[in-house]
Amino acid sequence: MDISATQPVRIDGKAFASRMTTRLGTEVVEVITNTGHVPGLAVVLVGDDAASQVYVRSKHRATLTAGMRSFEYRLPSDSPETSLLKLISDLNADPAVNGILVQLPLPQHLDPAVVIEAIDPAKDVDGFHEINAGRLATGQDALVPCTPLGCLMLLQDHLGDLSGLHAVVVGRSNIVGKPMAQLLLGANCTVTLAHSRSRDLPSICRTADILVAAVGRPEMIRGDWIQPGATVIAVGINRVSHGNQTRLVGDVAFDETGHVAAVTPVPGGVGPMTIACLLQNTLTAFRRQNGITA
Ligand code: NDP
Repeated sequence: MDISATQPVRIDGKAFASRMTTRLGTEVVEVITNTGHVPGLAVVLVGDDAASQVYVRSKHRATLTAGMRSFEYRLPSDSPETSLLKLISDLNADPAVNGILVQLPLPQHLDPAVVIEAIDPAKDVDGFHEINAGRLATGQDALVPCTPLGCLMLLQDHLGDLSGLHAVVVGRSNIVGKPMAQLLLGANCTVTLAHSRSRDLPSICRTADILVAAVGRPEMIRGDWIQPGATVIAVGINRVSHGNQTRLVGDVAFDETGHVAAVTPVPGGVGPMTIACLLQNTLTAFRRQNGITA
């Protein structure tokens, strides 16, 4: 079979995220009417990393579009840990702030583990705090990391019930791979979590009904690593150069996926879902803090 001959079926994360943001906007109006309070998200950026600045701006715009309050804090790159921890402590205590996100990566001298643990788990809308990770792993209500949550939503929207499907997740970070595996397990998939030490990765990938690639290596996963009919979620975003130009590519060789059932494009697949899920987590945190059951 010539697997490079046809076009892949696209899972349109941009359109899904846009519908989700519209729905969240309606729900935000409802909770404001019922409580008299506006959900608020605080984003903290330390330093001047260019990509982080773009992400923070996008989050700010999306928060306002959904009708929530957006609080932005920018600290200089040489800020001592004590200043950042003091700010987090103030935000933990501020009733106008329902969600707190500290943009990663942090400058070298700051330990992300210490910073994440300082955030009140009830306001940890990134879902990175060990309390939320533990709750997810033990099947309890948790604030779930936004990117894997978005991937699960796309999969359930596309496939419906995921029970019994074999999901292979490539990448085992705390931010994407591990919570993705937990969410798929929670959805009754049989889950294989692969990583850089996995032996014969192509063979493992070929057994997947659902393949989630969260690696950060441009087009590492080739078309012949994927069985016909599989659904592919490409999480990694990689900027590659062609002469003077650069373009974004995923971890999966998109042009070789004509035989799969569906695939997320890069860009326009998982990326937009991450911000939509951040808004959803902020609303979830607000509801829980105000004793509202959704
Ligand atoms: P990390 O660098 O933390 O983790 C990468 C994972 O890939 C590790 O578990 C690593 O294995 C594994 N890996 C690396 N090389 C190989 C290999 N050759 N074969 C198999 N596995 C390998 O990255 P993140 O999880 O934070 O992010 C992954 C990608 O997703 C990045 O490209 C990032 O930009 C993107 N991303 C996209 C988001 C979005 O909104 N679309 C949001 C978050 C991330 P090991 O543990 O053994 O080292």
